[in-house]
Amino acid sequence: MSKATIVSIVPLPITEQKPGVLPTIYKIPAAKKGEVQVLVIDDAITYQYIDETRGSQVIKIPATELGADIIRSYSHNSFEVEPGVREPGLFLVPESYTPALIKERFADILKGAEEKQSLWFQRLVEVADDDWAENRKLGNISPIQRLAAQHQGLSREWLTTTPEASRECPWCTTIIPTRAKVCKQCLRDVEPPKPGEAIQTAGTIKSGLAGLKEPFATK
Ligand SMILES: [Zn+2]
Repeated sequence: MSKATIVSIVPLPITEQKPGVLPTIYKIPAAKKGEVQVLVIDDAITYQYIDETRGSQVIKIPATELGADIIRSYSHNSFEVEPGVREPGLFLVPESYTPALIKERFADILKGAEEKQSLWFQRLVEVADDDWAENRKLGNISPIQRLAAQHQGLSREWLTTTPEASRECPWCTTIIPTRAKVCKQCLRDVEPPKPGEAIQTAGTIKSGLAGLKEPFATK
């Protein structure tokens, strides 16, 4: 059994799924500024079908290969990434390490990851600024863009403005303004919410898509 450590300084929780691989789900908690999170992984396995008499064969995936793949897919699914230049703060080291040991032994790699993540954050803020200037829609600004601006110590109008209250259309589940009487998507009548009814805000609805491409698709 070999081990590897995925190191994260990404200020969001990370969940990666590898269908067909055991274990399947890999989670890393959000890293606060200056903090390091680690996920120590073992070798994993997958089954490869050969034929009807021999059935499936177990294939081992080395921890280092799996770890590299997890990092690659998270990065690939994040917006505005340029691999090796500006990217989420994630890297892999062989063997098992605690956050304290990572800071001690891999200070250079950590510094490089911080720099690349910082460039990624700058880019995310630029994109948010452009979008805000053009559309002034808080729903277009994703949680990772807000975190990016906060992380860089920037103040922005789109950070301080309260998101417009919104809710799901009861018919088609499109997100519509709370006060809307007609759904913009399915054009059905929707009842205004009753007093005291829970109101979701644009900011909370998208938290599940943090850092991913989807929130940017709503142009
Ligand atoms: Zn609708």
